[in-house]
Amino acid sequence: MKYYGLIGRHLSHSYSRMIHTEMGCKDYLHTELEPEELGAFFKEQEIGGMNVTIPYKKDVLPYLDIISPDAEEIGCVNTIVTDDHGKLVGHNTDADGFLWMAENAGIEMGGKKVLIFGGGGAQLAVRRAAKVAGAREIITVSRSGENNYSNLDRHYDAEVIVNATPVGMYPEPEGQIVDLDLFPECEGVLDLIYNPFRTNLLIQAENKGIPYANGLSMLVAQARRAEEYFKGESIDECEIKRIMSIIAGNTRNIVLVGMPGSGKSTAGRELARLSGKEIIDTDDEIVKSVGMSIPEIFEKGGEALFRQYEKEAIKKACESFGKIIITGGGAVKTEDNYLPLKRCGRVYHLERDASTLSRNGRPLSQNADLEEMYRQRLPLYQRFRDAVIEVSADAEETAEKIWRDFCENSCN
Ligand code: NAP
Repeated sequence: MKYYGLIGRHLSHSYSRMIHTEMGCKDYLHTELEPEELGAFFKEQEIGGMNVTIPYKKDVLPYLDIISPDAEEIGCVNTIVTDDHGKLVGHNTDADGFLWMAENAGIEMGGKKVLIFGGGGAQLAVRRAAKVAGAREIITVSRSGENNYSNLDRHYDAEVIVNATPVGMYPEPEGQIVDLDLFPECEGVLDLIYNPFRTNLLIQAENKGIPYANGLSMLVAQARRAEEYFKGESIDECEIKRIMSIIAGNTRNIVLVGMPGSGKSTAGRELARLSGKEIIDTDDEIVKSVGMSIPEIFEKGGEALFRQYEKEAIKKACESFGKIIITGGGAVKTEDNYLPLKRCGRVYHLERDASTLSRNGRPLSQNADLEEMYRQRLPLYQRFRDAVIEVSADAEETAEKIWRDFCENSCN
């Protein structure tokens, strides 16, 4: 039986099998190999179509008969097929994937100055793509290169910024490779990272109104190109978006923010039923981890102590994938909660007329002027939210509105 699959050293987090299976490659395998096993693999397997990932993209070159121009220029291979004459042919589909990523985001590289951060393998594919797209100038910024982080002012006129470093990637999502304020002419930001869904760099681009994209589109688009090599026929572009939606829908969190008593918990429960996703209620997590009720925390240390516990609970919740995260009404008052929530999920503001908000069991709502609280907090909810959902009297209806939006926009 011919081998279809992916080889690499550590593959437990790879989406390749899921993507290729969705594209119709039913027998796609993940094969973890140690370096000394590579030779035996090529000797024993009859290769139908395979992908190659870290750390073997260069190591496979000696086993190939033909190397495509893309792979030749990029200097490594991520796809191998056997041609009609029985020869092993190596391709690199990352440049194709990156081109699709930029086009899909509406980011034009033709005639532009493209500034790429990172001097690793992925950067070579980005350079190739930028060249194919007709970029006017392509500069790589590398810590040890001529263009480095101490002379970025040379490139204040960059129009397209690309992050091809792991800076900002899970499990260290707090990093940001560069401050976009340095590039006043920037028209597009492309980050090869797809976990978290929005890196800090992309959140900054979004806040500046600059078009951007994460690396999920590149990941799926390069796999589609590879699958086309396997099959020898073209695969509809719609497949890329369909598979992106499946991955984002499964891995991205749904975050609920809104006034105390606006119905986040009841809508969240209905949403869990509808979506099959688990709930993380950050107030419940605080009570569990501290061993005190919320009124007891307020009695002990006031709102400041509660907000500290809340910040820790939100940070932890944001390390999850594919969950419903229900936040307390005042979570938006803590600036430190902004980036973790935006990175990990699509944020829904549950909006409800202040006169109908429930006060039960909420220390800060008991005697408060809720209309005044709403006026103060509204700009914060507006800043945090990706979408606003008008809360209905029926929680099921509210949940359906959120779920419909999420199914349509999990990639946005
Ligand atoms: P890599 O070789 O591990 O890193 C790329 C380069 O990033 C390094 O050579 C280094 O360049 C720079 N770098 C690393 N750590 C840094 C730090 N702390 N500060 C500043 N620069 C740092 O990875 P790669 O294979 O080229 O991939 C780069 C990124 O793209 C990774 O996050 C990877 O997951 C992602 N990727 C995504 C796709 C996709 O389909 N979406 C495909 C390929 C790769 P210098 O030493 O020259 O500064």
